[in-house]
Amino acid sequence: MTKIGLSGGIDAGGTTFKCGVALANGEIIAKQRVDVTTPVETVAQCLTFFRQYDLSSFGIASFGPIDVDRTSPHYGRILKTPKPNWSHFSLKAAFEAGLNLNVVVDSDVNGALLAEVTFGAARGISSAAYITVGTGIGAGIMSSGEILGRPYHPEFGHIAVKKHDVDRGFPGVCPFHGDCLEGLTSVRALKKRWGDPIDWDANHQGWNVAANYLAQACASLVLTLRLERIIIGGGLMLAKNMLPKIQTEFESQLNGYLGNSIATADNLICTPFYGDDAGLHGAIDLGKQAV
Ligand code: ZN
Repeated sequence: MTKIGLSGGIDAGGTTFKCGVALANGEIIAKQRVDVTTPVETVAQCLTFFRQYDLSSFGIASFGPIDVDRTSPHYGRILKTPKPNWSHFSLKAAFEAGLNLNVVVDSDVNGALLAEVTFGAARGISSAAYITVGTGIGAGIMSSGEILGRPYHPEFGHIAVKKHDVDRGFPGVCPFHGDCLEGLTSVRALKKRWGDPIDWDANHQGWNVAANYLAQACASLVLTLRLERIIIGGGLMLAKNMLPKIQTEFESQLNGYLGNSIATADNLICTPFYGDDAGLHGAIDLGKQAV
């Protein structure tokens, strides 16, 4: 099948690359998931899918750490990562060679944030963040219309948080800091102490503990940058009870400190408009920037 004027993109996660092709109006007309193995094998599978279409732009919203500095000689290259075979691999070069197109690359969370600001849950808002809570934790942050952290993206997942009482004996799973936000609240961390959250019942204490940490993360963002919207996505947020728990915790932790000068928690903190596809929409939007 060949169509003119289509845009392609990849939400390149650490375990799955979500590939998609969209019409000019943003509607995604084809999707394919590719399991991440070696760079060569993964890229080849993606290219087989994309070569069915006549693409006019291409963007990648990638797992990190990755060089997102568009003036850097290594722009689009994965940095040193514990992920076998992927350190120093250039996603940008691989897809430019394979598709004969200029490829725009940014971090996965910046991509998702861009999609949500353009047409999603933060439309019309100039100070917002997108936090993802999955195997790891990361955040894309926009303040007064500017995405923060160029050339280096924020590493918000590694901020310190105040430990919950039930976690006193848990050292956390971050290889660098132990009990940072990611070390305590990522799905990897939650699995380590209580098994997979997919198997937890609604009253499992893990929900409250995770909500406590994520509310602390939201409070740090709001107190530092006075954001108007925080979008929280990623695997953990697919549990329907998480969002209201985080909102309640957030209000309790701030304790009225900012008074009426911030939106209420249920207006401030939300889940992505694009759901699981926020990163894919962001990748496609990134690609269009180059055209
Ligand atoms: Zn850490």
